[in-house]
Amino acid sequence: MIPHRRRFLQHALATTAVAGLSAWSRQSLRAEGSALSDKHFEVVDVKRTTARLEYRPTPRRNMDRELPHWRYVEICDVTLRSGRQGSGETLLYYTWGVPSEASVRRVIGGNAVDLMWDDSLGAGLQMALFDAVGRTAGVPVHALLGPQAHSRTPLSWWNIDTSAADMAEECRRAYNIGYRSYKTKGRPWFDVFEQLRQAVQVVPESFKIDMDFNDTLRDAERGLPILQELAKHPQVDIYETPIPQVDLAGNARITAGTDVQIAMHYGNPGPLDVIRTRCCDGFVVGGGAARVMREGQFCDETNMPFWLQLVGSGITAAFSLHFGGALRQAVWPAVNCHQLFEHDLLAQPILLRNGLAAVPDSPGLGIEIDRDELARRKVVRPARRPEPARLIETTWPGRRRMLTASNGKVNFMLQAGNEERYGYYLPGAESRLVENDGSDRWRRLYDQARTQGPIEV
Ligand SMILES: [Mg+2]
Repeated sequence: MIPHRRRFLQHALATTAVAGLSAWSRQSLRAEGSALSDKHFEVVDVKRTTARLEYRPTPRRNMDRELPHWRYVEICDVTLRSGRQGSGETLLYYTWGVPSEASVRRVIGGNAVDLMWDDSLGAGLQMALFDAVGRTAGVPVHALLGPQAHSRTPLSWWNIDTSAADMAEECRRAYNIGYRSYKTKGRPWFDVFEQLRQAVQVVPESFKIDMDFNDTLRDAERGLPILQELAKHPQVDIYETPIPQVDLAGNARITAGTDVQIAMHYGNPGPLDVIRTRCCDGFVVGGGAARVMREGQFCDETNMPFWLQLVGSGITAAFSLHFGGALRQAVWPAVNCHQLFEHDLLAQPILLRNGLAAVPDSPGLGIEIDRDELARRKVVRPARRPEPARLIETTWPGRRRMLTASNGKVNFMLQAGNEERYGYYLPGAESRLVENDGSDRWRRLYDQARTQGPIEV
């Protein structure tokens, strides 16, 4: 039956416009009486490929301060007995789960339909199983998730914190290619007021800007006036985690004290406590497929908006689109971060119109990977997270200057920021990477800053 079916699909591909293929082929297959038995979903092979992507120049000079390791992805290709292959992706050093050798061994010989809801398999392997099952059954991934709620879904452009000029440039770029939302970090080592002053000059009021403070405003008493000041720009739309999420009363005060919506990562505090105390307006939802659906359904029942946060290249972004199609309350723009890269690994980019992307309707993820680009980017998987020595200079008007060194931990600047080592959102702050020129002077400053924590120089 499968060879016949494959010939049939080849015929379909040759004779049908891509846009209408999926629905047409599904109906036609049913009309033909084609049926798939369990054995077609048996996993027969798993291959993994590590690639090192490159950032576009603007994200590069900013990501290289704190997140040089987001370049590394692992692509998982799963082949089923049907002959169909599915692919998934893991951002190796920023993911909810890296597929292990044991997970790969475990799925071989198993039924992909039974396995695909197991979040413990890790991001790329789970994604590849969904893709392979969808391609074998001739249905898009969103149809495996449940009834379709949306045919188009919102996406946000993402960047780490940048200079005001870089932020304005990125907002303009995002707007010009159809995005209507930009998400970034609010950090005390940049001037958040200046960042917004410059960004709002290049986009209309309908373009939205969201800031994730990751606790750095520390408390409602000091944070609220800053949030209220920034909120004077009509573009400012969502603040994420302005102060520690455990501070229910402080977050409730912030939520009541500004019209800008407040987002918190789902789970802490408990979602029922969030509903009871109104300490935020909506959630950030990420993780494995089962978890995302569970959290998305909670949001459905409680009418809480959320954004999907599934991070990687265009492959992960495509997976995210399907959840956006299946979950009614996924109405805040998704954070997928594939805009960071020079090439997002897709043969055809995800197109946005008015901030929305189409939920793919062809089988599986509904995208094709650019295999030539993947081959060009292929590397040996690093034994551990690459950790180049980095020195970051932060300056303020009046010659105050600080140096921060990477210290082996991912959030070395965030931790110092939350300890208020850079002061508290002082105006005029600017930060940049001090290039390692191989000099004794650079090494001396780096060693000193690393040993002592951020230093004043
Ligand atoms: Mg966040």
